[in-house]
Amino acid sequence: MAERTNDAILTVEDLKTYFTVGDSVVKAVDGVSFTIKKGEILGVVGESGCGKSTLGRTVLRLENKAEGTVRFDDIDPFAISGAELKSFRRRTAMVFQDPSASLNPRKRVDQLLSQALRVHGIGDREEWKRKVSAILSETGISPEYRNRYPHQFSGGQKQRIGVARSLMLDPELIVLDEAVSALDVSIQAQIINLLLDLKEKRDLTYLFISHDLSVVEFVSDRIMVMYLGRVVEEAPKRTIMDKPLHPYTQALMAAFPSTNLSHRGSGVKAVEGDVPSPINPPPGCHFAPRCPFATAKCHAQYPPMVQRDDGHRVACWLHTEEGTGES
Ligand code: ADP
Ligand code: MG
Repeated sequence: MAERTNDAILTVEDLKTYFTVGDSVVKAVDGVSFTIKKGEILGVVGESGCGKSTLGRTVLRLENKAEGTVRFDDIDPFAISGAELKSFRRRTAMVFQDPSASLNPRKRVDQLLSQALRVHGIGDREEWKRKVSAILSETGISPEYRNRYPHQFSGGQKQRIGVARSLMLDPELIVLDEAVSALDVSIQAQIINLLLDLKEKRDLTYLFISHDLSVVEFVSDRIMVMYLGRVVEEAPKRTIMDKPLHPYTQALMAAFPSTNLSHRGSGVKAVEGDVPSPINPPPGCHFAPRCPFATAKCHAQYPPMVQRDDGHRVACWLHTEEGTGES
């Protein structure tokens, strides 16, 4: 069970999202639990295909869940409709990876940004104009560019517009899905700094998704590592970066070297091979086929999630002694 705290803005328990493809069931998210406190940044990391995007989308009710619960500030997004659902849509937002793909090329910036106000019936033309200008300024785009089309902007500017669009309804929780992954490294830093500034100014909460552990490390307060639809480890950033317990987390660190060198030398190399299919995950620990430490038990039985004292939890048979079982 995820720890439930009073100041949690988002509580997710045993969430499952399945897709049916032909005769097969893809278990994209397969029993994920976590909480995010108001004002916190939770980083979600894992290789492509681990279920990060599906998790982010399900939390915002952009996908249907198969099982489990989502609570946003005491609202169950799957139990509401009408005005309540509209309010949930206003209070949450998403920023996508590829700004070129997510911004309609035929719409001007002011149309792209004011659309949400129009859909939600907020304000009139004057109000839309005022709000678009204010949010553009806030995200580092000159309001004079409001009549331009997306192709007239650079990649970094486009992502600023993507961020601006997500802010139009003054959301409280934003899911950022690979928000900087398509950008050059120097531009990544600018967008990350913008996101961190906006978070402070607007008292936002982020679910920050990326396959790139070094980006997640830079941004997050806590880090949650996913592998094949499940959480394998989660801890406050310093705890997990200084003392990663799961061999998969250690392998991600080898693949995405940190600016912090203290954890180097664990002897674990970046993993080879691909994430297995979530259609027929191997029995036992999903990571066992790629794990340098796997024993017969790892191949036979999925390890329990073990909660440690320091807010660190891990699902690995190498670490089942120190804490209490959680499932
Ligand atoms: P990530 O964001 O970590 O790369 P995704 O959430 O996109 O992972 O995908 C997790 C798994 O679910 C992948 O195997 C992917 O192919 C599958 N998947 C995602 N969306 C769909 C869908 N709409 N239909 C079928 N399978 C899907
Ligand atoms: Mg994704």
